Amino acid sequence: MVTCSILNDFDNIYRPENYYTIILYPGVEKYETLNIILEPLIMELRKLKEEGFRDNQNREWKIELYFSSDWKFLAMCLGLNAANSKYFCPWCEVSKEQQGDFSYEWTINKTMDQVRENYTFYKGHIRPAIFDMIPLQNWVPDELHIMLHITDVLWRLVIDELKSRNTWGNRARNVIIEEMKRIDVKFHFWLEVGSTSWQYTSLMGQDKLIVLQHFDLTKLFPNSRATQIRNLWDNFYLLHKAMKDQKTDAKQFSDDARAWLCQFLDSNHFYQAGDITPYMHVLVYHVPEMMRIHHNFGLAAFSCSAVEKKNHQQVSHFFKKTTKDGGIGKGRKSAIVDILEYENRVLYFNNHDEIDLIRLPKRLRSK
Ligand SMILES: [Zn+2]
Repeated sequence: MVTCSILNDFDNIYRPENYYTIILYPGVEKYETLNIILEPLIMELRKLKEEGFRDNQNREWKIELYFSSDWKFLAMCLGLNAANSKYFCPWCEVSKEQQGDFSYEWTINKTMDQVRENYTFYKGHIRPAIFDMIPLQNWVPDELHIMLHITDVLWRLVIDELKSRNTWGNRARNVIIEEMKRIDVKFHFWLEVGSTSWQYTSLMGQDKLIVLQHFDLTKLFPNSRATQIRNLWDNFYLLHKAMKDQKTDAKQFSDDARAWLCQFLDSNHFYQAGDITPYMHVLVYHVPEMMRIHHNFGLAAFSCSAVEKKNHQQVSHFFKKTTKDGGIGKGRKSAIVDILEYENRVLYFNNHDEIDLIRLPKRLRSK
């Protein structure tokens, strides 16, 4: 799904209904497909950027374009290879091996002009960028995916540590389940057929924040170790909060984020440089810079969280519709048309005061 929203509409930027769906398709995210699907949009965006927009009262608006998404979609639209590659960063030329080295000062040093002229100039760029009319500093990292991803890593490292300490057994799993119950988070372990490795529930955003704040690690680790991990988790929670706060001082954030990464790599048997992930690099090096550049809006304005909510609403409708014909195809297509028509209707009603009296449909009905 691709949506657009008006950043200047400050008060409403967090509401899913203020994200207008312009592209919606049920297929897999693939560069070749996206390149074709997005072509009409790209042409329009280019025109908007160059000529601005004239509204129905003949006022002219200058348009500045921004981009925000999860890592996979962002990398794809930038023509960049996958996040686990050696050169992964959309904004700078860091390599995987240099991530734990604090002697480098990574800043946004790539430019979209260069990408447009010759994308192979930068290592890791394997295709032309799709949205090459948007300057690279306007490709803004998304706080939601940074939080989701880093929390996943912190949790996985805890499980890995239990396994490596040989304390991974029914008892540890039961303790985790009990503790999750206490903090009111739904969580399960299960074994897949033919496998001996335990799978566990992938937590939703809100639950991740609850675990990050309230999970009692002393139930799994000796006190000193539990305190060490708890401290790392608390500090990440605070960083995420600060990231969303428009009043956060970028310099202070930069210092705190760097201190957090040092803590993560603490020589006292904490984690390894190889455990650092691209999202952590972005958190430490590019988020502070983006805060400075976009202080008028604040990074929270670029959050994908409203779009994720919107996606959830659409998916619910989609499944209601597709399960009707056993998901054989007809329902798939019409569900998409249905969603887009519904949103267009709502948009139309919102923009035409004279028909305000007509009651808007409260929910979609599939026939
Ligand atoms: Zn970078």
